[in-house]
Amino acid sequence: MDLLKTIKEIVGPDYVSDADFIRQSYGKGIAGGLIEKRPDYVVRPHSVEEISEILKVANKEKIPIIPRGGGAGLLDGVLPPKEGGIVLDMTGMDEILDFNEDNLTVTVQCGITWAQLNTFLMERGYYTGSLGPGSGMSAVIGGGLSHHSVGGGGAAKYGAVTRHCVGLKVVLANGDIITTGSGASKYIKEPFSRWGLGPDLTSIFLGDQGIMGIKVEATLLIYPKPKYRSYRTFMIKRKAPKVVSKILLDYRKAGDLGIYDAFWLPDLSVAAGLGLIVSEFTVFKLWKEVNPKGKDVFFYTCEAESEEELEQNVKKLNELALQNKGVEMFGPEIEDGNIAKWHYEKNGHWQIYHGFWGAAGRGSIPQTAEHHIPIHQIPQMMDALSKWESENQDLLMKAGPAIHGLGSALLCDHTTVEMDSGLIVFNKPEFREINEKLWKSNLEMVVRSGGMPYMAGMRYSRALIDAGAFSDPYYNFLKAVKYALDPNGIISPGKFYLGGKE
Ligand SMILES: Cc1cc2nc3c(=O)[nH]c(=O)nc-3n(C[C@H](O)[C@H](O)[C@H](O)COP(=O)(O)OP(=O)(O)OC[C@H]3O[C@@H](n4cnc5c(N)ncnc54)[C@H](O)[C@@H]3O)c2cc1C
Repeated sequence: MDLLKTIKEIVGPDYVSDADFIRQSYGKGIAGGLIEKRPDYVVRPHSVEEISEILKVANKEKIPIIPRGGGAGLLDGVLPPKEGGIVLDMTGMDEILDFNEDNLTVTVQCGITWAQLNTFLMERGYYTGSLGPGSGMSAVIGGGLSHHSVGGGGAAKYGAVTRHCVGLKVVLANGDIITTGSGASKYIKEPFSRWGLGPDLTSIFLGDQGIMGIKVEATLLIYPKPKYRSYRTFMIKRKAPKVVSKILLDYRKAGDLGIYDAFWLPDLSVAAGLGLIVSEFTVFKLWKEVNPKGKDVFFYTCEAESEEELEQNVKKLNELALQNKGVEMFGPEIEDGNIAKWHYEKNGHWQIYHGFWGAAGRGSIPQTAEHHIPIHQIPQMMDALSKWESENQDLLMKAGPAIHGLGSALLCDHTTVEMDSGLIVFNKPEFREINEKLWKSNLEMVVRSGGMPYMAGMRYSRALIDAGAFSDPYYNFLKAVKYALDPNGIISPGKFYLGGKE
């Protein structure tokens, strides 16, 4: 069949392309940049019905479909496994469909960015709690929900964004359009909960790396943004992994102290983050003077409904941090080095990560290995990272040299912490083979050391299988769910080594 003609009839001639320059720009991931895998077509649909029609055609012809949000995922999740297929660019669907103050929910099309949505909400005194990923100025709701994203703000208080999703509209591989959560009942007019009406089938599409269906609409809980907030930043001069692990656990054991975010920035990221921040906010030059040796930095931001509550919580939070040897507190203002205040007041939560990735200068690119672990395992994971680094010293030197280490760690759900480990390498053809080898080995090491990837894309999902993380019965179960929903394996083939032709 003439596929291009058929898709043009569905979406209109302006929203599908097979031009080389379009295919090329959609053929690269934001990370790695190691390889290029061009799709045959790029399609930018504008309605649920258009997506349904495209999937019906693709399913019949067994053509790979790769959903793409903001394209800011760092593990090649938006690339075809080899050449070919259709990339479905979801950013044409970015409307807020329902802002419901009685239910405290918002229903959106999945192509809207976290920043767009939260700007709308904050103007009205609300936010999504967990503000999406650190890339939220370009990353969209569909991408964040496919990754269990955390990091853009509010991770300690609200956890991953997926916790707040109460229902989805999804287009399945055969073109069927389904609504999950309470919206699955035709008698329920406003979606409000994910639980009830049988098993929680919304979850199948959350954190799925885009393999189970195309998320087109999502209903998220929204929260009133508390009026009072505070922030403090500390320098940790010795045994940082142990000290940070202790502080974070003490915070959790102390009950609800209103912590919104709690970050640990080891040396490397302090230097890297500052590189960018300094250029944007000259006040941080001062901090560089305060902190010339680039010691580990820890900070928290917290929120409260009253001044009294805030004061009590801040007192406790500071005491729990300062009771550890070698921990010192910066002054309260941004100029004093209080990066926590910059993080919260100046929208730093959506900017800080952008500094890390440029750490090594022009031409440097991230090969990330982000994952969750329990708080108390921070020291063990740091040991595993150091061991891997010394075992791979030669390759790391040959690759540019590549920078390896912990970018940052942040407090997430309950006793979970998210660690931003990985590599920063140089995107030069002569280093590509080494870079590929290092990244694969790094991802598998994290998996073997007990790290739980949440943003897996193509690479990490395969590292899970290559490292033998899943038992046969579990992997079979995953396959059974995937092929029940997508018998021809057309949606996002290749991830977890599942799907049609590779
Ligand atoms: C500077 C920077 C900072 C970052 N910080 C963080 C962070 O703090 N936390 C974090 O979690 N991640 C972070 N990331 C990684 C990434 O941006 C996020 O995980 C983000 O949520 C991905 O969203 P996206 O819209 O860019 O998705 P994309 O990269 O476009 O897609 C991600 C995955 O979701 C699938 N997908 C996208 N839309 C749909 C849909 N509608 N239906 C089905 N599947 C879909 C894709 O196929 C792909 O597998 C960062 C990236 C950068 C570049």
